[in-house]
Amino acid sequence: MAEFRQNSSGVWQQAFAGDVFNTAVYLKRLSAETGVAFASTTGKDMLSQQLRQYCERVSLDIRWLKSHESRSCGLYFIQTDEQGERQFSYYRERSAARTLVQQFTAADWCAISEQTDWVFYSAITLSILSAEDRKRFIEHLMRLRRQGVKLAFDTNYRASLWESCDSARTWVYCAIDNSDLVFAGTEDMAGILNCPAITAKQLANELAELSVPELVLKAGKEEVGLLVDGDYLTFAVEPVSKVVDTTAAGDSFNAGYLAALLNGQPLSERVQWAKTLAAQVIQYPGAIIPESAMPTMVPN
Ligand code: ADP
Repeated sequence: MAEFRQNSSGVWQQAFAGDVFNTAVYLKRLSAETGVAFASTTGKDMLSQQLRQYCERVSLDIRWLKSHESRSCGLYFIQTDEQGERQFSYYRERSAARTLVQQFTAADWCAISEQTDWVFYSAITLSILSAEDRKRFIEHLMRLRRQGVKLAFDTNYRASLWESCDSARTWVYCAIDNSDLVFAGTEDMAGILNCPAITAKQLANELAELSVPELVLKAGKEEVGLLVDGDYLTFAVEPVSKVVDTTAAGDSFNAGYLAALLNGQPLSERVQWAKTLAAQVIQYPGAIIPESAMPTMVPN
């Protein structure tokens, strides 16, 4: 999506962002040797063309970035009020990305199966699809998994994008149950489970019956939990003293985790890379921080 952000002088600044997109950009930055493709659909409008150019500039592979004839790039606007509270306005009703399942041919799914090791998607990906496309999308992913592609999923929840909380819960549980690696945010899952709050440990218990080999529980500055092979591990988070903007905290965390995993790092290092990047990202405005501000990850 195209992001429009009003700075403190009232000037609108434009960038590109979106949860899976942010993870892709950060993963590529941390892991230059890994081929990272951004699979979605843009339009043919000016912003869509610029988004495609941006992907190329940051070395994201766009072989599965389709373009729709008449639809356009989704937009969102962020304004921060005097109390520092952020307000979002989304214009994505007719975004091209909503048609992504219709754009992918059998040959594309076949190529994805042959040319990728991992596919990462989120509950936002599911939420923007029609009920019929959602079902087809999950079926394609399940086929990929049977063919040996690993699936990673984030529970990123935007209530307004779902027809109901029940529907979100059904699809998110289905995705979790069919993934190799899941990133579950406690705030997202409290929304999906329609409860006021849930801790990482409680969430691990709630999701324990689903068959996820590696479940990562994100609880903001409270802690990071891991449920692997029935063992629950917990990791402290060192709170950042001056948080500027939490946009993309979870997305960058996922990228750090994936980069370490692909680099062959053990669980504790995966969490360390994830926390280190997220802590840096929230000290800058916007989803994507300057490249010069990227932390250096030292392989164990
Ligand atoms: P999501 O945005 O996916 O719900 P979180 O809000 O849990 O995820 O944030 C993702 C990660 O960002 C956390 O696991 C933590 O590592 C880091 N993080 C978030 N808030 C803070 C903070 N105040 N100080 C330090 N790290 C933080």
